[in-house]
Amino acid sequence: METKSVYASPTSDLLNKNAVVWDGDFLKTQNPARLPACCIGCGAVDKLEQTEEKLTYLNPLTFFWILLSPIALIIAYFVFRKQLSISYSRCAPCTKKATLWGNIAKISWVLFVVGIVVRILIGKQFFMLQMIVILGSPLLALFATAMKDTQLSVKDFREPIFVLKGFNKAFVAKLKGQSR
Ligand SMILES: [Zn+2]
Repeated sequence: METKSVYASPTSDLLNKNAVVWDGDFLKTQNPARLPACCIGCGAVDKLEQTEEKLTYLNPLTFFWILLSPIALIIAYFVFRKQLSISYSRCAPCTKKATLWGNIAKISWVLFVVGIVVRILIGKQFFMLQMIVILGSPLLALFATAMKDTQLSVKDFREPIFVLKGFNKAFVAKLKGQSR
């Protein structure tokens, strides 16, 4: 009898909800998506915690609505965006790491906004310090975001298939190795 591994590749039938199919290093899936029980940070398969997230896709052509007006672009954004509910797993150490860097990123953005408000309120006093905060905090935020293990995003959408990118190498290697 054949025993099915927990990270065996699901059937390639995309009509099956929650099914995922590899296309190079990209994953094709449907809404709602559920990734196999394997840590997206390191490929571990034990002691996993589930995370739910909503990914948004906007066709790049939508940005041309800015030619009409910024308001048209904002309306177009809400009309044309496609949302994918996705759930995936992380092991405890990777969850810790992702939470830590996620918090550092959030704090950095808050610092950036505070820096701008302070700049408006007090003018050129402490100019150097202000510049360090205003220029430094977005850099720190971007750095922290990059330090999170995985940055999943939707690369393409063709009704009803979402193509996901941004998978960690260990995760890809683990799942693809199993399906060979
Ligand atoms: Zn992990």
